[in-house]
Formats: sequence, C-alpha cells, structure tokens
Amino acid sequence: MVVAHLELGGRMRDRKRGTVRDLRRGNRSAVLWSLYLSQPCSRQDLSAATGLSAASVTNVIRELLDEGIVIETGLEDSDGGRPRAVLGMNPGYGYVIGVDIGETRTRVELFDLTMTERAKAEYPLDRTAEHDVDVVVAQIVSGLNAVLADSGVDRASVLGVGIGVPGIIEQGPEVLVHGQTYGWDAVPLERLLRAHTDLPLRFDNGAKTMGQAELWFGAGRGARDAVMVLIGSGVGASLISGGTTYQGATSSAAEFGHITLMVGGRRCRCGSAGCLEAYAGAEAILERYGRPMVAHDQESALAELIDAAATSPLAAAILEETARYLGVGIGNLINLFNPERVILGGWAGLLLGGQFLPVIRESARQHSMHHPFAATSIELGRLGPGAVALGAATLPMESFLNGSGLSRANTAEPADRLRVQSV
Ligand SMILES: [Zn+2]
Repeated sequence: MVVAHLELGGRMRDRKRGTVRDLRRGNRSAVLWSLYLSQPCSRQDLSAATGLSAASVTNVIRELLDEGIVIETGLEDSDGGRPRAVLGMNPGYGYVIGVDIGETRTRVELFDLTMTERAKAEYPLDRTAEHDVDVVVAQIVSGLNAVLADSGVDRASVLGVGIGVPGIIEQGPEVLVHGQTYGWDAVPLERLLRAHTDLPLRFDNGAKTMGQAELWFGAGRGARDAVMVLIGSGVGASLISGGTTYQGATSSAAEFGHITLMVGGRRCRCGSAGCLEAYAGAEAILERYGRPMVAHDQESALAELIDAAATSPLAAAILEETARYLGVGIGNLINLFNPERVILGGWAGLLLGGQFLPVIRESARQHSMHHPFAATSIELGRLGPGAVALGAATLPMESFLNGSGLSRANTAEPADRLRVQSV
C-alpha cells in the first residue's frame, strides 16, 4: 500500500526551535495529510505513516473528531485483538471549489472534503470571445453562484476556491496572469474576481493543477519524480520533483509546449516558430491535416480525425507523425529530468494516447538515453480530461491540510511545501 508520509519543509526546520504549539500544529498537519491521502485508515496506520507515537496520533485524532473534521467510518479486525476504528475525512465538514479556465470552456466544480463532486457548472468559450477577460470573469462568478445554489452548500462552509489558469501565474502582492498565447498580458485576475466574491482564492497554472490531481489521486500516486504532460489545444507540463511541483524562478517552469522541435518550423501561438505546440497541440494537428471536418468544436474534430485514421492514409500519417514528435519531446524531458513516471493527460493527450501510446513510447525510447528511459514509464492519466478543475480544488485543500485556514472563516495562506513519499 502506498501511504503518504509528509514533512512540511519549513516547519520541520522550525521544529528544532519551535514551541509546543508549533509541534502540535505540525503533528496535526502530518496526521491530516496522511489520513487525507490514504483514507480510510486506522490510528495504527497513521502512526506508521507519520512516524508519530500512538499517543500523539490518538491526541490529534481526538481533536479532529471533536472538531468534526474526521469521522469513524467503520471497524477492522486486528489479528485477534480488539477491532480497530477506521477513520476518514468528514465529507460535510467543508467544501472546496475548483475552476478550470480552459481553452474551449470554463468549468466550475464544487467538492466535499473527500473530493466527491457535489455540483458543477460549465460555460463554453466561443472562439471570438475566448480571449476576453471580462467574459471569463463573468463565467467564473456565475459558476461560483451556480454550484453553491445547486449543492445547497452555505458559502461559510467553503474552505476556498482554486483556479487553474492557462498561462504563467505571477504570485506577487496581487496575482497576475501572463497568458501569452491568449493575449493576456499581466491580467489582474485576482483583483477582477475579488470585486465579485469574498471567498479565499488561490491560483496556479492549469497543467500544474492537473499534475497535482494526478499526483494525489491518479497515475502519479506515490511518485516523487514525475512529469505530467497536458495536451489540449496547446501543450503544457508539470514537473514533480521530490514530491513537490517545481515552479522555477518565476513560476513558469515546464512550458513544455514551447521547447523548439523544429528550427525555422511552423509559427507558434507564442510568437516563436517550430515549438512542440505548433505540431502536437490539437489546434496544430487539425491545421496540419488541413481538411474540413464535420465536427465544429476541436475536441470532436480531433476524435473524428482519429477515427478517420482507420481509413485515411493522410489522417493516419499526420497522427503518427504527431505521436513521434510528442515522443521526441518526452524523450527530452526524460533526458533532462530523469522522472520515474511520465503521465500523459489533457483531453487531446488522452485521445491521442488512447490510440498512439506505443508510437509515443517508441519515439521517446529512440530520443532518450538508455539509462533514464529504462527507469521511467510512460502512462496515460487516470483522472480524465476534467482533472484540471479537480486539481484546482486541491489548491485550497492543500492550504487546509497544512493548517492555514483551518477555521472556515479564515483566508487561506500560501501553502507550505509538502513532500510525499512512499514507504
Ligand atoms: Zn511556442
């Protein structure tokens, strides 16, 4: 069984000189993380996973039971001894909302504390309006109101809202979004939303939020070093290093779509030429095919193209070439980062990978060093194309588990770094 063992980096350092209160807060957070990622589990499991004594775990669990955050969900046998209580998060204690600002739609989903979806709202972005910030802000505000109304959840029970954004997020005094391929230049998305809602807000890049969802609940579970590749209209990635999402100096790490595949190649939406995205993004694939499609939206059009590959040599050739290009990109990632797992997701990634994963793997093998290639596996994401909204909802959940915003009325603080390892 993969169990989560977590240490809160900064907090561990502080522990040496920390007060009893800090220690209690650290223990509580370690137990919460462990329970959250491997529930249902017993007090004994939590003690083994966190390294805390049975007495410490019992104390923390008593506190969490009293506060209604944790519940006993049943009993399990314990080798002839007394049956042990099985613990889980209390689904109704609080709720988190995930927002996916996608290329073709805005999606808002409300989850309970066990990450079960309780309500969702979805708004298509038509191609003429997709870059309009005001349209997107209005959709998010409508979505927040709609999921609260549909689920009957009181806004005071919402722990926070996570927003997955296409582009680079500048986490300064106020969050700014640089969406170069969308024409978003330093868009003050936080301020624009703040005018309409007082819920705690957190922001990250959509590929990174999907990566976090796969890391916690999907194909990345238990991985310490992984790369999540997200393909939709464009191409993105999320790097997990030592169990933590790697951000880089200004949070723009893993702009995988804009590595150069072809010097002097096709024009890219970012303004450069020959980027991987200009070949392997869904928009680029359909442009390279160049024939009219029956389907009007990109998702259906790509599915139509993949179906056509059975009978059309041109469609088959374009898609095989795309799979090989993608394999080249993944081979480069393997050489650079030595991941134990590469996970392919996003709606177009899942469509392509469903048919062409063997071609992608073979191309990655040909374009990477033997040793790191042998140490990695290339797999499809398990959470489906909706994982960006789920991933966005992990942002406020992360704050909650770290102990910031434990009271539902508090504003979430930036989360401490976490480390997940399998033991
Ligand atoms: Zn580019």
